[in-house]
Amino acid sequence: MKSKQKSEERICLSATEEDYLAMLLRSLERGVKRVRTTEIAKVLKVSPATVTNMLDRLKRRKLVYYRKYHGAQLTEKGKILAAKIIRKHRIAERFLVDVLGMDWTETHKEAHELEHALSDELLERFERLISSTTCPHGHPIPSKKGEIFHDCSQPLTEFVEGEEVRIAKVAHHLEKDVKTLKKLEKLGLVPGIEVKIKQKQPVNGPIMLQVGNKKHTRTIAIAKKIAANIFAIPATIKDLCLEKEASKDEKRSQ
Ligand SMILES: [Zn+2]
Ligand SMILES: [Zn+2]
Repeated sequence: MKSKQKSEERICLSATEEDYLAMLLRSLERGVKRVRTTEIAKVLKVSPATVTNMLDRLKRRKLVYYRKYHGAQLTEKGKILAAKIIRKHRIAERFLVDVLGMDWTETHKEAHELEHALSDELLERFERLISSTTCPHGHPIPSKKGEIFHDCSQPLTEFVEGEEVRIAKVAHHLEKDVKTLKKLEKLGLVPGIEVKIKQKQPVNGPIMLQVGNKKHTRTIAIAKKIAANIFAIPATIKDLCLEKEASKDEKRSQ
């Protein structure tokens, strides 16, 4: 166990296989363990038949549990591999913003290419140059051992009027939606920013938020549909209170 390269790191996966594992891990981060074939097809924009074929292949490689009509779930081995792919993605995104000065709204596509190509050595070099524990969209970077983390953020829609919150992250699926991200940026709704829930209109009405500093505050309206995809924590909490996802053969260390 002391050697740097563990056996699972030598498993050779195609970029497509990696995309499936990463997709399943993102679902797991949202608390969804088993994902339906139709859902995978929708997210990855492929036909259900293609998904079924791929899941059979990943099952043979012992990376997913899969039974027809029951959906797919990562095995422990699959989870560790998937976490490593996501780790590359998020470190790459961070690197693109922190070191190369790229706009956070545009990193996802580039990082998606890099996650399949980055060597472990290059990744370590990237990691040394970044300082955050999350990607620019606010998602926690998995550990080197392949552990993933849950944070304590909640959708903006869950807070009550008068509450002051700090934006923690945007939903996974918004990462590739450059148009919406640009809109959020224009409104000042980016991870790390504090806002106050001013008013919640009933039913599907917009949420009014107070943004800005003490000198210049302004009120903006944000559609409930969008607000449900922006996650925040109470402003009084200092960090994301990251919690490791429980793993069955997890060793207690550090
Ligand atoms: Zn991304
Ligand atoms: Zn990201």
